[in-house]
Amino acid sequence: MKPVIAIVGRPNVGKSTLFNQITRSRDALVADMPGVTRDRLYGEGRIGLRSYIVIDTGGLSGEAEQLDGLMARQVEQAVQEADAVLFMVDARSGLIPGDQRICDWLRRLGKPVRLVVNKVDGIDPAAALAEFHGLGLGEPYPVAAAHGRGVAGLVGEVLAGF
Ligand code: GDP
Ligand code: MG
Repeated sequence: MKPVIAIVGRPNVGKSTLFNQITRSRDALVADMPGVTRDRLYGEGRIGLRSYIVIDTGGLSGEAEQLDGLMARQVEQAVQEADAVLFMVDARSGLIPGDQRICDWLRRLGKPVRLVVNKVDGIDPAAALAEFHGLGLGEPYPVAAAHGRGVAGLVGEVLAGF
């Protein structure tokens, strides 16, 4: 069985960009417009000889009422199918209440979660990461998905757990 990794987070943090980097495809729609990925999208990634499945999900706004709704159930299904979850946040927007609510929501699902801080290109990584420690998900992993920076290291680390 191939390991399955789901990417979860607010709209526009860069989930589909990471998905595209991993699958090297244009399958996941990337756009400036938030919320373009409406459902789950599956792709295959490879690292050395090892292949794994990656799931791109539509963005969760993190609004309390949305986390009880249909969109959240779609994302929840992806999380249930996954062996590990990449919870992506945005270094540019910083930690916002929606991130905290998604974090709490994810914790209840009980899957291993790796916190990924995207868009660290051109900014001081240490400063960008500091505030995300408060989520209590361990050491945040910095990436710049649009440039492929940190992606192989991140995936390697997550897969090493399986
Ligand atoms: P999603 O809604 O979470 O799937 O986000 P997208 O992958 O569609 O990306 C949203 C926006 O963030 C797009 O304009 C991307 O070009 C931009 N973006 C994604 N990754 C990076 C990154 O590493 N650095 C910067 N500066 N922008 C990024
Ligand atoms: Mg997307």
